[in-house]
Amino acid sequence: MDVRIFQFNGCNKCFNETILLNGESKYKIEFIEDPKNWKEMKTDVSVITGYLLPEDKDTLEKIKSNSKRVVGYGNCTTMGGIFALANQRGYEVSPLSSFIEETEKVNGCLGEIEELSVAINSEAAPKLQNLCAVCARETTCDYLESVHRQIELEDETTCFNDLGYLCNGFVAKECKERCIDYNAPCRGCKPIIDRSGIRMLGMFGTLMGNIEVATEHSELGATDKLADRDDDITDSLPDVLGNFFRFTLSTSGLPRGRIPSSGNILNDVFTGRLIEELPLISGLLGGNRSISLTLKIIETYETANSIEVSEQTKKYRKELLDLESQLQEAIKSKDPKQYKKITDEIRKIGGNMNLSNVYFGGFKAQIDDKDNFEDYKAHVFDVVEGTYKNGSVEFTIDPIGIVKEIKIKEG
Ligand code: SF4
Ligand code: SF4
Ligand code: SF4
Repeated sequence: MDVRIFQFNGCNKCFNETILLNGESKYKIEFIEDPKNWKEMKTDVSVITGYLLPEDKDTLEKIKSNSKRVVGYGNCTTMGGIFALANQRGYEVSPLSSFIEETEKVNGCLGEIEELSVAINSEAAPKLQNLCAVCARETTCDYLESVHRQIELEDETTCFNDLGYLCNGFVAKECKERCIDYNAPCRGCKPIIDRSGIRMLGMFGTLMGNIEVATEHSELGATDKLADRDDDITDSLPDVLGNFFRFTLSTSGLPRGRIPSSGNILNDVFTGRLIEELPLISGLLGGNRSISLTLKIIETYETANSIEVSEQTKKYRKELLDLESQLQEAIKSKDPKQYKKITDEIRKIGGNMNLSNVYFGGFKAQIDDKDNFEDYKAHVFDVVEGTYKNGSVEFTIDPIGIVKEIKIKEG
């Protein structure tokens, strides 16, 4: 079977993951990194990865007219994914279905290679349960007394939401990467229902029913508008878009934003996000540089705020950086065995390819049973307003930790 895999824009992590299919005798695979200049030829299955913009329309039509089937792989392609957060600032990141009607899709950030195999082979997709059904944490559904932007890691048995810490597992499917196993909340990269962001907002809003919301008065009288200050809900959820619509903004039905773009999509994705969420975003979208980008952001902030990290933390971080260099080589040679070996090693330390285990001050879950986890355990950290700069990364956060400006040099 002829399979052509096309990388469009942005993060190339899903594209690289398809190396795992290379060498399987049932496929004849071609990797195409420059789809615009692709020399047209007939193909059985075309796999699309990366985010899509209106200017990709002609190329996608060319691919469609040459392919028996087209499969979108990864959230960037299937629903705009994390890059569609830039739509808030005027970009038009769009799902594959808005260019080609008949497509199959494999959601996920990172998309799961096993699910892609099933789609390529036209096999019936396995029925997946709700993530909560396979999560070790238990729900109480008690009304919350407060909402938290960061949690201490001591409670390992109660549902994050019931601890007042937003987890989108409620609207997600079971998955391979399982951020929740590394004390990172689910951000809903595999939605189990349509309009998952709105539904999650409704569910979390219900849990918050006990929390007093300050009101503002206008000349027209009292309103229910959330106040700017002294309001637990407003202070605790300052980035509704990034927390509830991280992967689904372009298919959410929400109107386009009106904030002017910086002209750089990566910067627009990060602007408006919260400092504690930055590792959870850079770990997703940094492609084959996710590790160095994530550590750069974390370490820049740690150094400026004198957040101490242990020798063990430094050792694990160095191992991750070494693995990233090795991964570049495996990607260049498209060697599936090497790619698997190295990504397995990255998962052992980073938790998954989203680096859910990597955080400010240390790691969120124990890496090796023989280690003393207390030596490298991450803790809640203070939000400190300021501009943080270190070589290729510079960002400014306001007093509540919202990114006001960010510059990431690519390359
Ligand atoms: S951002 Fe996520 S969905 Fe998009 S290419 Fe990277 S890993 Fe895949
Ligand atoms: S919402 Fe999250 S923490 Fe709670 S049960 Fe579901 S997956 Fe687990
Ligand atoms: S736990 Fe992580 S990988 Fe799994 S669905 Fe949620 S965000 Fe996606």
